[in-house]
Amino acid sequence: MGWIRSWRRRRWGRREFPEAWLKWVESLPFYAALDTDMQARFRRALQIFIFEKHFFGAGGLVITERMKVVIAAAAVRLILHLDLSLYDRLTEIVVYPHAFRNPKAEGDIHLGEAHRFGTVVLSWPAVQWGMRYPCDGRDTALHEFAHVLDKEGGGFDGTPRLRAEADYGPWAEVMSQHFFRLQGSRWPEKQLLRQYGAKNEAEFFAVVTEVFFERPHEMKALTPDLFAELIRFYGFEPQLDPSCH
Ligand SMILES: [Zn+2]
Repeated sequence: MGWIRSWRRRRWGRREFPEAWLKWVESLPFYAALDTDMQARFRRALQIFIFEKHFFGAGGLVITERMKVVIAAAAVRLILHLDLSLYDRLTEIVVYPHAFRNPKAEGDIHLGEAHRFGTVVLSWPAVQWGMRYPCDGRDTALHEFAHVLDKEGGGFDGTPRLRAEADYGPWAEVMSQHFFRLQGSRWPEKQLLRQYGAKNEAEFFAVVTEVFFERPHEMKALTPDLFAELIRFYGFEPQLDPSCH
């Protein structure tokens, strides 16, 4: 990390966390479930993320502070046990007021898209939908930020930068095994994962990330080896959101 960025981060990290943001953050069940040290870490990372990234409204959407906090919360949730620097090359977040159409994708309606390296495009209703249903295994914001982590590991190939050289072998073996089983509509992958994850390795990683965070108990029970690989990468074992009981 460059020294200017490091200096800025220290300065931003010392600023008081805005009162209004705290209210929004505290309404997120996964945040409430963190211990106080992790909550402090989360708030600091969120604050830096919001200061560093440019948020743009598209299609007439006016970005509010709350939108920034909610979107940043999803991004930070993924790297809470990793490092914020994984988003260093992400510079802008474009938010649409509705599902948007990618002119290059032949009429396909997208809810979110990490289409260029430095940009994430999101539909605000899809982000809200993800928040409202924290246990359905679908979350557009988590999905798109997982693509950013994947790309940071060099290309959209379903493999982010792993913690150790020795992790790549087991990762490739476990991921590809479940990926091919999903492609073949086999059980239990078919029950656990959206079929969209069978599209390619990058979508597989994004889809399993959504399920890892939102349906951890089922993933642990049905595909324990897949669960273990994701724990090793994300650095912790997620708990079922308290509101899902
Ligand atoms: Zn995707």
